[in-house]
Amino acid sequence: MIKRIEIRTSSRVQLLDITPQIKNVLSSEDIISGIAFVYVPHTTCGITINENADPGVRRDIISTLERLVPEGSDYNHLEGNADAHIKASLIGSSITLFVENGTPVLGTWQGIFLAEFDGPRQRSILVKIVST
Ligand code: ZN
Repeated sequence: MIKRIEIRTSSRVQLLDITPQIKNVLSSEDIISGIAFVYVPHTTCGITINENADPGVRRDIISTLERLVPEGSDYNHLEGNADAHIKASLIGSSITLFVENGTPVLGTWQGIFLAEFDGPRQRSILVKIVST
C-alpha cells in the first residue's frame, strides 16, 4: 500500500525538513524492517537527504542551484518556470531509505528534505515500504 503525505510549502524556493512526517508514516506501518521508497509526483520539486544540523547547508544548496540555473534566464519552456523543472531534475524525485524497527536509518546529521522550486504549493509525498 502507498502512503501519502500532504505538505503545503511556503515560498517559491525552499528546502523543507520532512523527516518528522516520514518517520511518522514509517512508524505507523506494519512492516518494521524493509526498504522505503519515497517519491514526489511533481515536476518542479524534488526530494533529497542532506545535513539538517546547520541551516547554512540548505541555504548553500539553494544559492548554488540558483547560480547554476537562474530564474528568468533564456529558456524554451512557455510556462516561465523552466528553472524549477531543471532544478527538480538535478535534485531527483525519489530517495530510498533503509527501515529498521519502524524508523529510517539515517546518519547523525542527515535529514530528509522536500526541495521546492516553484512554490508555494500543495505537494504530495508518496511512501511505499517493501518488507525485507
Ligand atoms: Zn512548467
